Amino acid sequence: HPLAPADTNAPAAPASPPLPRQNSKTTPPSPPKIIADKSGRQKYQRVGFLGEGGFARVYEIMDSSTKRLACKVVTMSSLKTKKAKTKLYAEIKIHRSLSHPNIVKFIDCFEGDDNVYITLELCTSGSLMDLLRRRKRFTEPEARFFMVQLIGACQYMHNQSVIHRDLKLGNLFLDGHMNVKVGDFGLAALIESPGERKKTICGTPNYIAPEVLFDTASGHSFEVDTWSIGVILYTLVVGRPPFQTKDVKAIYQKIRNNDYSFPAEPPASPSMPSRKLIGDILTQDPAQRPTLQAIVSHQWFAMGPVPPYIPTSAHDSPPDWS
Ligand code: ADP
Repeated sequence: HPLAPADTNAPAAPASPPLPRQNSKTTPPSPPKIIADKSGRQKYQRVGFLGEGGFARVYEIMDSSTKRLACKVVTMSSLKTKKAKTKLYAEIKIHRSLSHPNIVKFIDCFEGDDNVYITLELCTSGSLMDLLRRRKRFTEPEARFFMVQLIGACQYMHNQSVIHRDLKLGNLFLDGHMNVKVGDFGLAALIESPGERKKTICGTPNYIAPEVLFDTASGHSFEVDTWSIGVILYTLVVGRPPFQTKDVKAIYQKIRNNDYSFPAEPPASPSMPSRKLIGDILTQDPAQRPTLQAIVSHQWFAMGPVPPYIPTSAHDSPPDWS
């Protein structure tokens, strides 16, 4: 398997514990075949299962006009503590306030008898993590395409004072036209006053910025997303994350020492401009990291094509850009 063991791509243990993980031994019963809110106003047919995350299961559903959506299902029983409720409501509040072509569209949320349901734009092509597993790595034109869309979404979020804090390939979904849709706002935070710093240690080991781990007194801000974007770029073109190792402690040590290198041999050996851009982004001091604007203005984006779209053949094989 080319990628990390599952645990190093799963969220780090945050200072405030995440919502309880749904234990596979006590998998909750499937939601009803017809999903409806208590008033019966919204009615959807459950048509498939899409995936499972830290505290939710996600289904494909169909509304009365046969439009297909994704539906995140959180059991009421996993929301017994006040902390769990607060966390879910924070995710909903942030996600529903965002509207951008490269962010998974939040449609609605409602309560049924046993579950809270969140309806979302359906991303039919899975996540960039799924695609990377099939493709091993991406061509640099594809990486430019994904990066332009990701950075556009991130600039919009930051302008709305939202830090995502868990940008990673598994949270970058793809619609049927291979457009990037940033999803999973479970660790997102709102910066409520200029200069506010966040103190909660959270993120996913491979993608976590050094200041989150080692500068816990002064906290972190928007630049943590920039760091993750650097890790994402490396992973897109090399095929594995830069600080990847067997155990989480060793990953953190490598992040602290800025200890990563590029494969010397093709095909996983990226171009010199991409190495330079990755190096610029993976700067230890968050204040010295390039702005998102500076990243899209980097020479790497001008040295070859930025495709207007990615053909769906890219699901299985590298597109021919010649
Ligand atoms: P959690 O917040 O519990 O980690 P996620 O948002 O990561 O849950 O979703 C879990 C899985 O469900 C994803 O890995 C993906 O396979 C699937 N999924 C989530 N949102 C969508 C969506 N909008 N369209 C299609 N599949 C989705």
